[in-house]
Amino acid sequence: MRSHRGSSKIEFSSVSEGLRLSLLDAPHMDLIRICNQASDKETGGILVGRYSKDLKTAVVSQLTGPPADSQGFLSSFRRGVAGLQSLLDQYWSGSSSTYYLGEWHYHPSHNASPSTVDIAQMKAIANDSNYFCPEPILLIVAKSDSGGFAYSANVFFRSGGYLSLQQKETVL
Ligand SMILES: [Zn+2]
Repeated sequence: MRSHRGSSKIEFSSVSEGLRLSLLDAPHMDLIRICNQASDKETGGILVGRYSKDLKTAVVSQLTGPPADSQGFLSSFRRGVAGLQSLLDQYWSGSSSTYYLGEWHYHPSHNASPSTVDIAQMKAIANDSNYFCPEPILLIVAKSDSGGFAYSANVFFRSGGYLSLQQKETVL
């Protein structure tokens, strides 16, 4: 079991690019709960939050589970769209005006690296004007060797290239 003393917020950064990603306590707890229920199939959803004014820091304050029309398999996940637009409208019109930041999904394997399918999907999102998100984030959760979870946080570009952020050590 993972220890939950103190805050379970997790942070990632790329020192050279000055980019940071924070996953706040509540969405992190939601993510762990959803992954624990997923058994050995992939699952996922979207990341919602805000960027800082300089666009260098993304703060994820909400996270959704799989929309009803999603399909999870042993080694792939197709995130559906059912109900997502009205949910995003609610977040946007809420007091903190949060919006779509990207995707997350769970690899039941021990490998949190983006697959070639993941990379193609993120490139498509970066180039889809409906998302208003030219540099979407992909957070992948995998099982860690110690029995907890391992994470990879990646920022994608319209070219299909991406940058992996380093997870900051959590001090409990
Ligand atoms: Zn994947």
